[in-house]
Amino acid sequence: MTKIAHYDYIVIGAGSAGSIVASKLAASDESVSILLLEAGGTPDNEKMWTPSNWFEVLQKCPEIEWGYQSVPQPNLNNRVIKLAQAKVLGGCALHNAMVYVRGSRSDFDAWGKVAPGWSWNDVLPHFQNVEQIMKVLTGEASEFINDLFTAAAQYGLPHNPNYNTSESQYGYALFQFNVTGVFNLIRETTYSTFQPEQYHNVTVHPMAFVTRILFEDTRAIGVEYVKERQQHLAYIHNEIILSAGAIASPKILMLSGIGDENELAKFDISVVANVPEVGQNLYDDLFVSVGFSIPQNKDVPFYDYGLAPAVIFASTENSSSVIDIESSVGVGTLKGFPGPERSFWLWPNIMHLKSRGTVTLRSSNPNDTPMIDPGYLTALGDIQMCKTALQLGIDIGNQLGLSQWRLKQIAPETGADLETYIRETADTTHHYCRTCRMGTDRDSVVDTELRVRGISGLRVIDSSVFPLSITANTAAATMMIADKGVDIIIRSLQC
Ligand SMILES: Cc1cc2nc3c(=O)[nH]c(=O)nc-3n(C[C@H](O)[C@H](O)[C@H](O)COP(=O)(O)OP(=O)(O)OC[C@H]3O[C@@H](n4cnc5c(N)ncnc54)[C@H](O)[C@@H]3O)c2cc1C
Repeated sequence: MTKIAHYDYIVIGAGSAGSIVASKLAASDESVSILLLEAGGTPDNEKMWTPSNWFEVLQKCPEIEWGYQSVPQPNLNNRVIKLAQAKVLGGCALHNAMVYVRGSRSDFDAWGKVAPGWSWNDVLPHFQNVEQIMKVLTGEASEFINDLFTAAAQYGLPHNPNYNTSESQYGYALFQFNVTGVFNLIRETTYSTFQPEQYHNVTVHPMAFVTRILFEDTRAIGVEYVKERQQHLAYIHNEIILSAGAIASPKILMLSGIGDENELAKFDISVVANVPEVGQNLYDDLFVSVGFSIPQNKDVPFYDYGLAPAVIFASTENSSSVIDIESSVGVGTLKGFPGPERSFWLWPNIMHLKSRGTVTLRSSNPNDTPMIDPGYLTALGDIQMCKTALQLGIDIGNQLGLSQWRLKQIAPETGADLETYIRETADTTHHYCRTCRMGTDRDSVVDTELRVRGISGLRVIDSSVFPLSITANTAAATMMIADKGVDIIIRSLQC
């Protein structure tokens, strides 16, 4: 028998965004009732909470994974790329690298041009709100990191005391992480820190798989979900907030009848609103790898984080005003590290690539994974950006400053063809976004108040609404969107 319930708000997805949305809405008005639905369960495996286990968690915790993968990518030697996405209370913050990067003033000023109200001055207070609750810890230098910084300086880059608060991100810096604790560091997620279940007016249902949103004409009225093999219907008085992430949010919209009407027709899904860009514009960064073996007379450094606590922001145009490389650093002692123990690696992540992809349905069955084509390296110029970034990694890694740590360059092999190497090894940085992009134009999926076009009672608040790519990993901006999104909801009630 179908179970039926009523709430003021339903939030779909307890990830980076949804956990903030439910908690902040609950705190704003004790009299409203909120249902938070999450397909995954409680993260009860202790090892997930230790930051230095990051690589191991990614490989050995399939119980918190959706198991997504791309369609074969012709420009990456037809490789199928594993697209990690977490299915757990806390979402991708349970298996991400925890690095905290806001993005640049110019990123958000560009957002403000296509989505008024989202420029730097508009979003900064929301980053600061999040930072008052989520701990942001700056890593400590060590002999290896000091030598790496010397190498970056020898390459010609400046020291940056704090890439989040300096006027520019450019240069080498200590990485900042969403971790907490003093002696024993612990991973933070917005679910563990904001704790939506502490509010008496929030009902959290883990293991609740949302299959579709229900409508009366074009008004969202409720949600259909499955929990413990039983179908449930939950209805709303106010609004549904979709926070299922950049892959699942467009999937749920399409299954519910919001998308390109021609696509929906293929699967006999009744059209509620023809919004052709749902699932389009999928953006992701790629990273390339440069590895070096470490001589026997040096102890391989060990770090308490998922990565070495150092980052290099640089430019494929060698210009401090065009920042599109963010190189993270790895060492072989990281648990589960996918390389030799006696090695260190530079991983230039290339941002603001031009290629775009899609998330489309495979069928009308909610249990089927969506078809994900990130379209890597399909745009002219992207391969050249990757080559320049790879060369930067090679050049910094071979500077004199790192000589005591460097036995030999092991990847790419000296003299290898860089383009071939990139096509064989470049990989996702898991920065999926833009599949429900925000804007003022008619083709955007949500407006600047995050309302789905042509629909009432439904907003999308997560990484899918990014209007443009950013010069950063995507968690910080997603949390900012959640904080600002709730303010927008509260304000709309006062009008
Ligand atoms: C491996 C990896 C490493 C990363 N490293 C970093 C990093 O170091 N720093 C950084 O800034 N960013 C990083 N990111 C990106 C960042 O974690 C994400 O951008 C961010 O967490 C996205 O938040 P979200 O709320 O949009 O989605 P998510 O956090 O993915 O939350 C969506 C939630 O919705 C749930 N859901 C989906 N479908 C349904 C359904 N049908 N019914 C019910 N619930 C559903 C999911 O289970 C999930 O819990 C990384 C991502 C990955 C995958």
